[in-house]
Amino acid sequence: MKIALIISATISVILLSFFLRIFAKRFKVGIYYIDKYEEAVQDAITEIEKKDPRYIPPVDYDKAMDLRGTPTHVCPCGSQVWLLKVSFVDYEISNYFLDMECLMCGSFATAPTPIDKANHEEI
Ligand SMILES: [Zn+2]
Repeated sequence: MKIALIISATISVILLSFFLRIFAKRFKVGIYYIDKYEEAVQDAITEIEKKDPRYIPPVDYDKAMDLRGTPTHVCPCGSQVWLLKVSFVDYEISNYFLDMECLMCGSFATAPTPIDKANHEEI
């Protein structure tokens, strides 16, 4: 009985070490602190901003909303700067998409048009 127990324990240890070696080859295992990771990302962004002042940091979409529907000039976050898709003719904006994104918070909104201005004045 003792021999069977020793043999099964030995086989178990061999199989376990075999699977652990395969697991270790396939996956990287470690302990990561999320705060440290976010800190490192923020430090990297700060470093990039120092090197190139024109760099626009990625928008944090945590507070973004979908405000599309009513044309607006100002985002609820207070920003008046929007990201838009436009086309140019003779050095001026000739066409633009109505979907726009706030530069500061990433909220979607509807771009105002001259027709909206006429409708607003009639009301
Ligand atoms: Zn905004």
